Amino acid sequence: MTHPARRADGLYNDVFLPDETRRIRAEARAFVEAQLRPHAFRLNTTPERRDGFPRDIFQAMAKAGLYEIPFPRDVGGRGLEFPTLASMIVLEELAYASAGVASALYDAQVLLVGQTLLRAAEPLRGRILPALVRGELVGSFATSEPGASTDLSPAAMQTVAEKVEGGWRINGRKRWITNAVAADVIVALCRSGEGRQSFLLVETRDNGVVVGDPDLKMGNHPQLTSDVEFRDAFAPDDHLIGAAGGGLRAALSALMLGRIGIGAVGVGLAQAAFDQACAHMEQRKVFGRELARFQHWQFTFADHAMALEQARGLYQKAAFLIDRGQSAEVEAAMAKTVGSSLAVDVARDAVQVCGAYGFARVIQGANEPRMLEAIYRDAKIGEIYEGANEVQRWIVARRIFGRELTG
Ligand SMILES: Cc1cc2nc3c(=O)[nH]c(=O)nc-3n(C[C@H](O)[C@H](O)[C@H](O)COP(=O)(O)OP(=O)(O)OC[C@H]3O[C@@H](n4cnc5c(N)ncnc54)[C@H](O)[C@@H]3O)c2cc1C
Repeated sequence: MTHPARRADGLYNDVFLPDETRRIRAEARAFVEAQLRPHAFRLNTTPERRDGFPRDIFQAMAKAGLYEIPFPRDVGGRGLEFPTLASMIVLEELAYASAGVASALYDAQVLLVGQTLLRAAEPLRGRILPALVRGELVGSFATSEPGASTDLSPAAMQTVAEKVEGGWRINGRKRWITNAVAADVIVALCRSGEGRQSFLLVETRDNGVVVGDPDLKMGNHPQLTSDVEFRDAFAPDDHLIGAAGGGLRAALSALMLGRIGIGAVGVGLAQAAFDQACAHMEQRKVFGRELARFQHWQFTFADHAMALEQARGLYQKAAFLIDRGQSAEVEAAMAKTVGSSLAVDVARDAVQVCGAYGFARVIQGANEPRMLEAIYRDAKIGEIYEGANEVQRWIVARRIFGRELTG
């Protein structure tokens, strides 16, 4: 399959990025071109199956050292000066080929699970995190339930961790849990007393953890999600992550990173749709002229180029703040909302300008696989998960008007 030119190379300038981060972008891009792109069409178009966890890609990412990027040296990471920024750049590069792979194998595995585990005390931290970095463990992050996802308050949450001798007994059902079919460990947010929630690491083997078949979704096919039922699962005392009762705060902190990640994934998806549409417009003629000669489409994609520049800047700024030890709540909300909505907008216009060539997955007469329809399907979930974009607008509005007015 031939791939269109990367227009960002001519339109976008990494002028503000540290050299360290620019090197990571080159490294991630080389990985994507050599090891992910050749499989991306199959991954993005094959419906979910229980045996569909992309273990070959997962292991290739570990072998290439991509899982070392977000972590400090003491757990086997690279000890970068700007680890969050670098991780987000990796996500953008991965999402350029496959948003599902980026979201499942990087955002969920190292941002949600990995960053939560950085809060764990020894010996858990020193035992689990190096294995995660080496790609020896698959992890899941479980907060959502059938009746609680946007609202994660103790009143909404039904999964209960009860204190027993030597640890915690866990019962309840989680929903939409990424990577659960392959997970060795699950970090689960549980109600652990009146009005309190705690994060516990639950090992999945022989422990009363029942994982359902993967959900069949509109897009992000390589991101397998399933229900997880805890039936008297046991987590020893040292599997408590952070303080007892501090679970919601830890979850929200991990989800803030996840949101910046969704902004980066949105930029990767939008850039991929943009590049494919521009290549098509330069060669496809209607009424005797290339589509790129029509001012309507020139202006539409000029607007998208400007919006891409803004969205990229937003996620990078939010990541940079985190690396400087500052809060980025509002910046993360902006990065997520702008990046995910841009992906939807560019994907829609890209399919439109490519016409039937954008709508098709495979054109049998030309024996030609097409990547755009998967991008169109994959883009939508970014506006919904890890805090719907309405909730992100609420976060920004709170900063404008204060909690007294906005709730
Ligand atoms: C592919 C995929 C992967 C996922 N992976 C995980 C995972 O690994 N771990 C995990 O725990 N969960 C995961 N989830 C769950 C995901 O985070 C939730 O689906 C998401 O939080 C939204 O929850 P909900 O679907 O129950 O929507 P609801 O909470 O029912 O919200 C529905 C809609 O209501 C609107 N809404 C909500 N609040 C407000 C408000 N304050 N103001 C105005 N409108 C509002 C929004 O438009 C929202 O989309 C995943 C979901 C998917 C689809």
